[in-house]
Amino acid sequence: MAGENHQGFWVFIEQLQGRISDVGLELLGKARELADTKKTYVGAVVLGNIPQEEASPLLSYGADRVYLFSHPHLEAYHALAYTKLIASLAEREKPEAFFVGATPLGADLAPRLAAVLETGLSAHCVDLRLGEDGILEQIVAGFGGAWLAVIVCPERRPQMATVMPGVFKKPEPGKRGGEVIPQAVEIEKNELTPLVAEFKVRERKAVALDGANVVICGGYGMGSKENWRLLEELARLLGGAVGASRPAVDEGWAPEEVMIGQSGKTVHPTLYIGAGVSGVMHHVVGIQDSEIVVVINKDLHAPFFEVCDFGVVGEAEKVLPVLIERLKEKQQVG
Ligand SMILES: Cc1cc2nc3c(=O)[nH]c(=O)nc-3n(C[C@H](O)[C@H](O)[C@H](O)COP(=O)(O)OP(=O)(O)OC[C@H]3O[C@@H](n4cnc5c(N)ncnc54)[C@H](O)[C@@H]3O)c2cc1C
Repeated sequence: MAGENHQGFWVFIEQLQGRISDVGLELLGKARELADTKKTYVGAVVLGNIPQEEASPLLSYGADRVYLFSHPHLEAYHALAYTKLIASLAEREKPEAFFVGATPLGADLAPRLAAVLETGLSAHCVDLRLGEDGILEQIVAGFGGAWLAVIVCPERRPQMATVMPGVFKKPEPGKRGGEVIPQAVEIEKNELTPLVAEFKVRERKAVALDGANVVICGGYGMGSKENWRLLEELARLLGGAVGASRPAVDEGWAPEEVMIGQSGKTVHPTLYIGAGVSGVMHHVVGIQDSEIVVVINKDLHAPFFEVCDFGVVGEAEKVLPVLIERLKEKQQVG
C-alpha cells in the first residue's frame, strides 16, 4: 500500500541470450530523471545467466542498485519463475514504481507481476512524469486515440507501467557509483514449464525508419498498395524512409516494423509527411518530436490538421504525383 514507505524507481532489464535490451536502458534514463526529482534511488532488476561483471555496466546507465538473479535456468524467460523471483524481491524491498518494456516478454511479465503484487498497471505509456503531489503520472493515448489520458495509482504500490521501445532516449553511459546485489535463486521444477527447447532469432531487415531525417508516412486513406508506391517514390526523392499507420499495416501495404505510434515506432525526423492519416493520438504520439509536420488529407476536419505545421486538403493520390513531379523538376535543374 502507498503508506508503507515505498522507495525507489525500478526497471526490469530484459536480456536475450545475455544481450541487454535497449528498452531497459531507455527506461533507466527516465527512472533516473524521476528518482533525482524525488530524491530516491534507481533499481535495475535483471534475470539471466549473467556474471556479475556483465551486470555492472547498468550502473553507468543510471542504476544505483542492480538486483541480479543469475542462474542457467533463467537464461530463457520462464513466466512462473521470473514472476515469483521478482515479486518476492519487490515485496521485500518495496519499490515506489516499477517500469517494464512493452515488448512481447514485458507484455507477459508485467501483468503477472501486477496481479501478484496486487497493484495497477498502465500499458503502453507514452510518457511518465511526477505530479505536484509526487505521484507518478502515467500518460497513455486513450478514448480511441482522441485524448492523452493521465493515469495515477494513488493507493497501491508499486506504481507499474510498460513503455514501448524507442519512446525514451537511451542515456549516455557515465561514471557513477552503485552496487550489484546478487540474489538467491530458488526455483521449483514446475516453475520452469513450458520448457524452452530452442531459440531462433527472427531475421529482421534493418528498418531505415530508425534515425531517418525524413519520414513519409501513409495511412488507410492511401487506399491501395498501388498508391503506396507514391510514398516510396517521394521517400526516394527526399532521401527518406516510409512509415505506416496501423490500418495500413493491417492492409498489408507495409510491414509491421515500420508502424509508427503508440504500439509501433517513435520517430524524430526533421520532416514528417503524413498522407491519408487521420492523426489520432495513438499515431501522433509516435511523431510528436518531428521538427516539421506536413499533412495531406482530403478531410479538412481530420484531427491531424490541428497539430501539423503545413496542411494540404486534397486526395493523396492527386497531391503526391504533383509533389513528386515538382521535386523531379527541381532536382533536374539543380
Ligand atoms: C491500444 C491501441 C494502440 C494503437 N496503436 C497505434 C499505433 O501505434 N499506430 C497507429 O497508427 N495506430 C494505432 N492505433 C489505431 C489508431 O487508433 C487509429 O485507428 C489509426 O491510427 C488510424 O489510422 P489511419 O489514420 O491510417 O486510418 P483512418 O482513421 O481510417 O483515417 C484515414 C484518413 O485518411 C483520410 N483519407 C481517406 N481517403 C483519402 C485520400 N484519398 N487522400 C487523402 N486522405 C484520405 C481520411 O479523411 C482519414 O482522415 C492504436 C489503437 C489502439 C486501440
